[in-house]
Amino acid sequence: MGLIDRTISMTLPVVPKPVVRYFSRPYIAGTTMADALNVVRELGEQGATSTLDVLGEFVSRDEEASANTEAYIKLFKRIESESVREAHASVKLTALGLLIDADRCLENMRQLMHQAEASGNFVRIDMEDSSCTDKTLAIYRRLREEFGHHRVGAVFQSRLHRTLADVDEHAVQGANFRLCKGIYLEPESIAYTDDRRIRKNFVEALDRMFGSGVFVGIATHDDWLVEESIRLIGKHGLMRDRYEFQMLLGVREPLRRQLIADGHRLRVYVPFGANWYAYSVRRLRENPQIAGHVFRALVGRG
Ligand SMILES: Cc1cc2nc3c(=O)[nH]c(=O)nc-3n(C[C@H](O)[C@H](O)[C@H](O)COP(=O)(O)OP(=O)(O)OC[C@H]3O[C@@H](n4cnc5c(N)ncnc54)[C@H](O)[C@@H]3O)c2cc1C
Repeated sequence: MGLIDRTISMTLPVVPKPVVRYFSRPYIAGTTMADALNVVRELGEQGATSTLDVLGEFVSRDEEASANTEAYIKLFKRIESESVREAHASVKLTALGLLIDADRCLENMRQLMHQAEASGNFVRIDMEDSSCTDKTLAIYRRLREEFGHHRVGAVFQSRLHRTLADVDEHAVQGANFRLCKGIYLEPESIAYTDDRRIRKNFVEALDRMFGSGVFVGIATHDDWLVEESIRLIGKHGLMRDRYEFQMLLGVREPLRRQLIADGHRLRVYVPFGANWYAYSVRRLRENPQIAGHVFRALVGRG
């Protein structure tokens, strides 16, 4: 990313919300469940599966956590009643009150998981910033004991120093993980900041996951990592039901189409809802060209 783009991406928090909304449209399925399910159906026609995220995170009131729990319960019922195929859910625990009260959050997750179980669905627990890692993995472990690997999965971030140790601790036959670089900028004391090191850790973590019999959602748009992942799939002799690639809605669609054409399974992360702002800023930050567009729009040349 060039200097100007980097500067613009740093100033995104002061960009007016309507401008952020405008440029983040490709990343968000819409504000309603109906919008999101339409996108899921379109993706299905293109040969991709989905994981749905009800936008919202870091809530500070119990009522918000309960409302988000309820939203997921409704989502599972709707997926089932409309017979939408292979639409999983991705949940951020801070949307269910993790930082208010971890025990309450676990209770909210249990309610949500009971509906996921009744509807035959699967829940991926997204990984948030490092203030949440231990608490998130503790809740994941409890839910995995109570509901099983086939209902709940965790996410590991190759940016963090601790990740290989976490993978070794949690990787058991049949577990279901997503592996990503990690979007949250963390201090150098706990995270790699050099992209080459983050990539190397990604490859090492993936190798260990495959070696332990874990199903892996390989979440990246990075060509080099995609190639390395395909090499590891070959090395471990994996059938296509042992892994899938995962990509974000609105990002690198040609790569998505190519992976599907090459016979890999591919799942798209589909966020929707009224609380689109924090997610949108994170996506715009990762897209240098869009940061440039935002700047041009702001100074009236876009
Ligand atoms: C399905 C999925 C789930 C995720 N879940 C989590 C999670 O739970 N926790 C977490 O911390 N992180 C999560 N992430 C984000 C992830 O950690 C990275 O921040 C993000 O995927 C970018 O890393 P990358 O591997 O794609 O590599 P990058 O080097 O960032 O991207 C590779 C290329 O993709 C393109 N690209 C990437 N992002 C954009 C964008 N926003 N707009 C346009 N082009 C773009 C660019 O061409 C870039 O050069 C998830 C990512 C995916 C795909």
